[in-house]
Amino acid sequence: MAPLVTESIVLHAFDYLETSRILRLLTRDAGVQSVLARGARRSRKRFGSAMDLFAQGFAEIHFRPNRELQTLGALDVTRARAELGEDVGRFTAASMISEIVLRFPYEESAAGIFDVVEECFDKIGAAEPQKTLDAGLGGAWRIIAHLGFTPALDVCANCHAPLDPSLPASFSHSAGGALCQRCGAAAVGSRVLPPPARDAIRTWIAGADVAPFSTGEGRAHQRLLREFFQEHLGSDRELRAFRVWEQGAWSAA
Ligand SMILES: [Zn+2]
Repeated sequence: MAPLVTESIVLHAFDYLETSRILRLLTRDAGVQSVLARGARRSRKRFGSAMDLFAQGFAEIHFRPNRELQTLGALDVTRARAELGEDVGRFTAASMISEIVLRFPYEESAAGIFDVVEECFDKIGAAEPQKTLDAGLGGAWRIIAHLGFTPALDVCANCHAPLDPSLPASFSHSAGGALCQRCGAAAVGSRVLPPPARDAIRTWIAGADVAPFSTGEGRAHQRLLREFFQEHLGSDRELRAFRVWEQGAWSAA
């Protein structure tokens, strides 16, 4: 079987046995793939910066039928993304993005997700320290929306009645978004989302820049995102990188 050459981003990497590394790649043409880079730790020459997190380039993947782990022939790096490792806010935001991308169950290749993730890493990499939280939140909401989980913000997620954009609205993770007053009154365990918070999520999904927000608003956005993701992922597994990002943003401030 001829190898597949496809653009890829390293989302996760760990050492394997004495000399090798295993990477989890988001590929443009074959979804997420786990690949073994044989001898990668013995010779930096062969794979170079391709073994580092968030690196992007053309991967040559040798597939074997009925195997979970494929073999990496080469990964020619076009972008090493060293800038993501230069700031703790950038690094933790990018790690959170990797984690949520890896947690989604993909149907073969989720068309277009590669471009969204690429753009998201570039945006985080270019963010000044005080903007990394914003870039992480924006990237995460865009990815979630791209995968088909856009939250309802302008109409009630339950009865589809239009919502008054100037009033706070209840937000229900299980219903999938904001609720009208009637549905909100009947919902258990929902949060109240003020108009600026709804505007921010709408703006992030559109890929635009959000007006500066306070520490309290930032925390609330991170919590809302985590709860929304966990609800729709349907998994109880802890989001470790997300926790580090959530806690780190405030201990560093
Ligand atoms: Zn309603």
